[in-house]
Amino acid sequence: MKKLTLLLTLLTSTLTLAERIAIIGAMDSEIKILLSQMKDVKKEEKASVTFYKGKLENKDVVVFKSGIGKVNAAMSTTIAMEEYDVNKIIFTGVAGAINNNLNITDVVISDYLVQHDYDTTVFGTKKGAVPGSVDTKFSADETLIKIAKNSAEKVLGKNKIYIGTIATGDQFIADKATVQSLETTFGAWAVEMEGASVAHVANLYKVPVVVIRSMSDKADGSAHMNYNDFVTIAADNSAKIVMTMLTQM
Ligand code: SAH
Repeated sequence: MKKLTLLLTLLTSTLTLAERIAIIGAMDSEIKILLSQMKDVKKEEKASVTFYKGKLENKDVVVFKSGIGKVNAAMSTTIAMEEYDVNKIIFTGVAGAINNNLNITDVVISDYLVQHDYDTTVFGTKKGAVPGSVDTKFSADETLIKIAKNSAEKVLGKNKIYIGTIATGDQFIADKATVQSLETTFGAWAVEMEGASVAHVANLYKVPVVVIRSMSDKADGSAHMNYNDFVTIAADNSAKIVMTMLTQM
């Protein structure tokens, strides 16, 4: 009996020690490089999302395409949390630039993330705040931010890398007025459609998260044209940063 208890204790501690990094992109282009480098891949489909479990740079990872928008991102992240013993989350992809310092293909690493379309202000809350919480923003993990910054500087050089707030909503932003209001209301540096919902789930599970976004456009009147021209190079920039991060984790 004693032996059995010991065995069970050992087994449980090994199980809880399992560590896997979830690496998420919203679109195929954002995870293409990662999938091409993966080893020992086991593919599983759950709720129409394909999860690729395996090794990248010798680290245990689960890589998946969440699909576009907050619901897709939140649902797939939750499945990853429940099914794959995830203890760190990295989101990789493209975004529209908000801050004037940014050029297309530059990179923003999240320190904070906000759901810019979350609005219960009529009840006296702040824009972005989820009822029940006073915070308007979700925070990214300091260690992951440092590793991301370090890796991004290695891949693209120091002058292309910024750390700032990333705003998320279920809209492709393509006008200057919205860009300005995202900057004044939230101090946002970049806008996209998934990051804050992934951070929301990660914060609820108390798992460290960071979002890395390379700029595909400037979220202005020409955003959709710039997006089409730059989505591939921007998506690749971000994925290469993740590959470098894995060598340092
Ligand atoms: N071409 C796609 C739609 C892309 S939506 C299709 O029709 O299938 C834009 C994607 O890139 C989202 O995943 C979002 O996170 C990011 N993104 C890039 N620029 C953006 C912008 N200006 N506003 C919002 N999201 C943006």
